[in-house]
Amino acid sequence: MKTKPFKSESKKLMDMMINSIYTHKEIFLREIISNASDALDKLYFRSLTDQSVGMKKSDFCINIEVDKQARLITVSDNGCGMTAEELDKNLGTIAKSGSYDFKTENGETPKNVDIIGQFGVGFYSAFMVSDAVTVISRAFGEEGANRWYSTGADGYSIEPADRENAGTTVIMHIKEDAENENYSEFLDTYKIQELIKKYSDYIHYPIKMEVSDYKPKENPDKKEGEAPEYEEVKTVKTINSMVPLWKREKRNIKKETYNAFYKEKYYDYEDPIKVIHYKTEGDATYTALLFIPAHAPFDYYTKEYEKGLQLYSKGVMIMEKCDKALPDHFSFVKGLIDSEDLTLNISRETLQHDSQIKLIAKTVEKKIKNELEKMLKTDRDNYEKFFAAFGRQLKFGVYNNYGLYKDELKDLLLFDCSLDKKITLKEYIEGLTDKQEEIYYASGETIESVKMLPQTDSVIKGGFTVLYLTDPVDEFALKTLNEYDGKKFINVCDKELKLDSDKEKAAADKTQSSKELLEQAKKVLENKVSAVKYTAALGEHPVALTSEGAISLEMEKALNAIPGSSNPVKANLVLELNLNHKVTQTLDKLYADNREKFDLAIKLLYDEACVVSGKKIDDPLAHAKAVCDLLTK
Ligand code: ADP
Repeated sequence: MKTKPFKSESKKLMDMMINSIYTHKEIFLREIISNASDALDKLYFRSLTDQSVGMKKSDFCINIEVDKQARLITVSDNGCGMTAEELDKNLGTIAKSGSYDFKTENGETPKNVDIIGQFGVGFYSAFMVSDAVTVISRAFGEEGANRWYSTGADGYSIEPADRENAGTTVIMHIKEDAENENYSEFLDTYKIQELIKKYSDYIHYPIKMEVSDYKPKENPDKKEGEAPEYEEVKTVKTINSMVPLWKREKRNIKKETYNAFYKEKYYDYEDPIKVIHYKTEGDATYTALLFIPAHAPFDYYTKEYEKGLQLYSKGVMIMEKCDKALPDHFSFVKGLIDSEDLTLNISRETLQHDSQIKLIAKTVEKKIKNELEKMLKTDRDNYEKFFAAFGRQLKFGVYNNYGLYKDELKDLLLFDCSLDKKITLKEYIEGLTDKQEEIYYASGETIESVKMLPQTDSVIKGGFTVLYLTDPVDEFALKTLNEYDGKKFINVCDKELKLDSDKEKAAADKTQSSKELLEQAKKVLENKVSAVKYTAALGEHPVALTSEGAISLEMEKALNAIPGSSNPVKANLVLELNLNHKVTQTLDKLYADNREKFDLAIKLLYDEACVVSGKKIDDPLAHAKAVCDLLTK
């Protein structure tokens, strides 16, 4: 028996195979089964026009046997088979199409061999787990069969052999275990079943295997209460479910079926809030089955969460999590894409996959957006539930990438507001009177604390609606949007916001005439504020803090809470005194009569303003002392 060397490129690939990362090795079974399925397709199609085949669709199948003692896994099919020449040509070289080249987009050879795990490289993957592979094949219409044999890199031999019918049998001798590499697990029938379910569940021919079940032994003498004896019963079972749910007609699928599929496949205990099942044709031809979960996974808002969709090609899973298939702002979507444009075969170059996936991703994104818009319009309760789970991700989406997606996402946002319900920006605008030219918002830690802000109170009393922002990302999202429908977003605590001009003029006059008093107040506060002034916009509250410039008090809190931010950010604060509150007269009096008490009062009023706006008192001990001093002096 003469051993032929492999063609040069194959030898290189063989080395990569043998040394590939262990976790990728399990795909060998998928590859061998896919080849068998292709061979069955070929003979089945022929049977449709050629009477001499003499087989019905139900006659075609794939058989798997595992022999633990001999360390053999055998995969046979009754498909088209191969002649001696075909064995030589097909299994003696890899790059039949001539385009096999492990190159990336920039023409570099990739450093890791991830490609193997992701897309597979066909028959040769058998050598990732085997130290010898035998292929016995008989081509349809031929009398004799042939045996191809190889122990890996050295080459292969072909000699005549026996096989009763047309088809191919691949016998893999599984490697001995090595350090950190447990090949023996592939000789476990449970493991093999698991791999079939994972990768080849939707191959549309039955994949049969003998499996053991334990059944109670028949025993007529068994006494009551006595434990039954069990015996091992071996039966041949079809392991794969054959027809994928997403390939079935949508109108024939019940909601419960979708839900059960989702929960089993994506390990959730709750039904999804939305199922999106569709087919497209055209630039990107594929079927998608997508789910929006009803709640965020526990690790959703952490770095550990990995987004992605599964990729299938003709029912065969080729990638577990394709992150490029989903944009970050829709990273909560689970599901899969099945496209014939994606092939198992890397010899068609990874580049092609990339552009294909980009094309698919674009339409997936559009579809998800449309479905969310539809839900917002027609199923508001569910949309609000969805938004409670994933709204924050949409707001990050507005803010991320320098606002690249802000226009796409702005109409999907919901905000709490002074109308005691959640509204969209569009709804805010629709509720405006003609004279309102801005969109008002207030931010704080909770709705309660935002409501308590003196400025919120006065804007509401002015007859306006105020958006309540309680998530740190909210204000950043609005700053990124900058305006909606031509109306600017204005923080109620912004010092520029003065709604009643007559009253404000009086406040400005008072600020002018009480310069000395205000200077003293600023001095007492040791430059914690950039100014102290009078205002008319505080309703019943004596004092409030407002901010000047781009950074609000809430943003200061959010930015400083980011781990690792070394330079604390400071909002530029202004202490505002309510011109129409009695406290103003008290302060005037104290300033004239009792400077010591005046200083104490200013300190305490500043602390009060901090508390009301949700900012911590700088020095609680000093605060306590000031209270005591004021009461005793
Ligand atoms: P690919 O399947 O991507 O073309 P492979 O290396 O897996 O690459 O297989 C090479 C070729 O060998 C196949 O294209 C097919 O023609 C042939 N082949 C492999 N397995 C079988 C089989 N079970 N029956 C018939 N032909 C097969």
